[in-house]
Amino acid sequence: MNRRNFLRASVAAGITSSVTSTELLAAYEAVTAVNSEIEAVTGDGKSVALERTAVDELKASLRGDLLLPGNPGYDAARRVLNAGIDKYPALVVQPDGVTDIRHAVDFARDNKLLLAVKCGGHSWAGKSTCDGGMQIDLSTLRHVRVDPEARRADVAGGSLLGEMDRESMALGLVTTAGTVSHTGVGGLTLGGGFGRVARRFGLALDNVRSVDIVTADGNLLHADAEQHPDLYWGVRGGGGNFGIVTNFEFELHPMKREVLAGEVMFPIDRARDVMTVYSEMLETAPDELYLDAMIMSPPEGVPGMAAFSLCYSGDPGKADAVLAPIRKLGKPMQETVAVRDYVEVQKSFDNSDPRSVGEYMKSGFINAYPPELIDRIIDGFQGDPGRSTMLYFQQSGGAIGRVPADATAFAHRKSLASMFIFISWPLGTQSDDDIGYMRKYWSTLEPFTDGWYTNEVSNESQRVLSSNYQGNFDRLLKVKNRYDPGNLFRLNANIQPAV
Ligand code: FAD
Repeated sequence: MNRRNFLRASVAAGITSSVTSTELLAAYEAVTAVNSEIEAVTGDGKSVALERTAVDELKASLRGDLLLPGNPGYDAARRVLNAGIDKYPALVVQPDGVTDIRHAVDFARDNKLLLAVKCGGHSWAGKSTCDGGMQIDLSTLRHVRVDPEARRADVAGGSLLGEMDRESMALGLVTTAGTVSHTGVGGLTLGGGFGRVARRFGLALDNVRSVDIVTADGNLLHADAEQHPDLYWGVRGGGGNFGIVTNFEFELHPMKREVLAGEVMFPIDRARDVMTVYSEMLETAPDELYLDAMIMSPPEGVPGMAAFSLCYSGDPGKADAVLAPIRKLGKPMQETVAVRDYVEVQKSFDNSDPRSVGEYMKSGFINAYPPELIDRIIDGFQGDPGRSTMLYFQQSGGAIGRVPADATAFAHRKSLASMFIFISWPLGTQSDDDIGYMRKYWSTLEPFTDGWYTNEVSNESQRVLSSNYQGNFDRLLKVKNRYDPGNLFRLNANIQPAV
């Protein structure tokens, strides 16, 4: 088989993993060096040869960069946070401005390319990179401009949460962001956006007042309550299905920098007590308290624990009363709760991520936390030597639940919390037993869930996706049909157009 044929076969087969990504890279490098065509992959998985001159024209039309395998910067662009994902796009566009994005979208659409859009690269499923397609890497589109009078922030579509928190809080203002500062504003906001002030101010997407978005036809649209209201509705929960958001306009809220925040840790044999108190506080906590709970069994040698992670941004005089149910549990093993700077608190989980490990996760929303669920959590949770195992609740409720389920595309307004289970392992040591244990454990917990967070879980089945969007799916499908009838934007919780 000559190089060209090997590559054609590789590209087609690579997406079903029979050829390794390293072989694909070697093949790309070899062929792009000598051939007048660049091999790529279409959205529906067919191999396609791109004329070198056409790619050169695209490159010449950009103010930013077009990277091919082997070029400096290509490797950093293709990688995402989940180190278990190892994909090689045929070409990467790093736009310098919106016009570059429009050119890249036109090129991807005209050539029917598989297209990945990357902001913070935190998608667990690796939706922001791809094998053989085009990646638009928005890391070159990071900018936050705050208008303190209007209490609004313009946040460029590739920005990270930490940048938004820093610029807003410097002016005494805040909007909802997630709990890890290097998460992308783009992915987090388009699918939801839970975080330490979400119970006060709603999800990140509830604070979006308008977006600028490049749609599949290459047009730049401004969508808000008056202009393209269907698109404005859809982008708030429909993920990246409708185009590339180049700017988010967020509403900001006044808030003091100082919050009471930290972790309260108990030995793992107190897990039942911790989960019982958590189930009570999910129903009774004021909006100013954000409370997560976890059971964690780190690898051998480190003691397991059951813990709360909290952030209280309300009246300091009421803090003791608000935290009283936790205090009733007695002296913790360790505690870090203190008055702290909100922007620093927002960075405090920045190293608790899967950068150097493989990970398997399951998650779902819970609308109630009955004693039977506590029993199943405690009875099924196992430490696993050499692995880190965790059950984690991220709280919702408060202002999130006061938004009607059809006001935005995000439907899960009744949820009290998201429940996650994770197992992680050093790269290269994955075993079927680990995943088997998680699947079995999840099968006992899943009956208590009501759907899942599209930002966390990739579930490609339209039937499952449509039931997850509950009453909002039909309307989402109409928006998809209108703005992306060819399904150019498919690497997300994908709504397949029906046109
Ligand atoms: P990416 O992988 O870059 O993108 C994810 C998806 O969004 C892709 O489909 C991509 O194409 C699309 N996308 C990104 N930007 C744009 C854009 N500008 N226009 C169009 N499409 C775009 N979620 C919470 O709600 N709260 C949390 O506290 C939280 N903490 C997390 C902590 C960690 C360590 C991780 C890994 C995830 C966390 N998440 C949290 C989940 C998070 O919301 C999702 O992983 C989200 O998709 C990340 O967005 P991103 O831009 O970083 O990801």
